[in-house]
Amino acid sequence: MTRLAQTLGLTEFQTEIVSTVRRFVDKEIIPAAQELEHSDTYPQAIVDQMKEMGLFGLMIPEEYGGLGESLLTYALCVEELARGWMSVSGVINTHFIVAYMIRQHGTDDQKQKFLPRMATGETRGAFSMSEPELGSDVAAIRTRATKQADGDYVIDGQKMWLTNGGSSTLVAALVRTDEGADKPHRNLTAFLVEKPTGFGEVVPGLVIPGKLDKLGYKGIDTTELIFDGYHANADDVLGGVTGQGFFQMMDGVEVGRVNVSARACGVGIRAFELAVRYAQQRQTFGKPIAEHQAVAFQLAEMATKVEAAHLMMVNAARLKDSGERNDVAAGMAKYLASEFCSEVTQQSFRIHGGYGYSKEYEIERLMRDAPFLLIGEGTSEIQKNIISKRLLADYRI
Ligand SMILES: Cc1cc2nc3c(=O)[nH]c(=O)nc-3n(C[C@H](O)[C@H](O)[C@H](O)COP(=O)(O)OP(=O)(O)OC[C@H]3O[C@@H](n4cnc5c(N)ncnc54)[C@H](O)[C@@H]3O)c2cc1C
Repeated sequence: MTRLAQTLGLTEFQTEIVSTVRRFVDKEIIPAAQELEHSDTYPQAIVDQMKEMGLFGLMIPEEYGGLGESLLTYALCVEELARGWMSVSGVINTHFIVAYMIRQHGTDDQKQKFLPRMATGETRGAFSMSEPELGSDVAAIRTRATKQADGDYVIDGQKMWLTNGGSSTLVAALVRTDEGADKPHRNLTAFLVEKPTGFGEVVPGLVIPGKLDKLGYKGIDTTELIFDGYHANADDVLGGVTGQGFFQMMDGVEVGRVNVSARACGVGIRAFELAVRYAQQRQTFGKPIAEHQAVAFQLAEMATKVEAAHLMMVNAARLKDSGERNDVAAGMAKYLASEFCSEVTQQSFRIHGGYGYSKEYEIERLMRDAPFLLIGEGTSEIQKNIISKRLLADYRI
């Protein structure tokens, strides 16, 4: 093995696109990331190049102008991007989930209207389930769409934690509608909300207050969204049928979990790369620290974790691509990769000694980015809920 996280059985095109993204990351992202991150600056030039490379349309079918690639190809590209800077992978993550949901669940009109513009990156997606009072407990959503006499809706309520909230132009928002169903999640509907980029009252009844200040995951905008008498057309309901939003969003989140695993792999790979280099440069007691067994063993542990996470991520992506249900595989991959990423960044940080605490060293950023992966697309506890429920059903005595 010459490098970690190799993937067997890729097509020529997959190999080519992944190495193109890797070169792009090495040349354009890694050298720019520190400065952009520390100043919390949106990586516009990088995003523009990603548009040109077709990355926004990677999984959008060719008939709508995309590259029609698999979830695996997408995840491998995301792994490379996150290796450079996690925030850059975040720019395409919510976009990819929304495009996936429209592809899977949208009406023909919605596909025709949005997918070609999403493939070029002209329309950019964000997705919104979380609210100030809830994140894990999605079925408890309070934001409400009230049906009007003419069949349209008025939406009121507050959403929280929208990744790309300000820079997106299309938000898939999960809200409550009155379906009269006894199970709360059957009373949820996904609306496709179009808006311009920016902050403030961007359209009547829809306010994006401003960027939330975060520990890491900087550069990219994370926002609230306030609906205050926002008017939505009946045509804005994803798939045209109300009461289906929970299932549509969970389908999107499932591919999103593979994507978060891929990001965790990318951050972990970078943390390892930094550690293995530093350990050979830094001398203590007359030799490079890599020659102290305690440090060498750390490197071995880190590499093993990176490799295991990568294999589980690839497995979950391939399972979804094969058309099989992958909730358990995606949950396991997300859980393991995000936990390992956290451990590997911490180990790399320790190997850097005092310099790991300095803003001059890249590991400092990775230490602040990694914790988000434990939370986004469902916390580790929520993954364990999903995994254990399915296992107890499958292994029922
Ligand atoms: C930077 C950032 C970006 C985000 N982007 C988006 C986005 O684009 N769109 C979006 O919709 N959301 C987004 N989120 C929200 C994210 O999905 C939620 O934060 C996450 O799902 C957890 O929800 P919560 O914060 O409400 O925590 P809570 O649900 O309040 O959980 C708090 C703690 O309790 C634990 N817990 C909760 N329920 C259980 C249970 N049943 N069993 C065991 N333990 C439990 C959790 O694991 C956690 O440790 C983002 C969050 C962050 C920080």
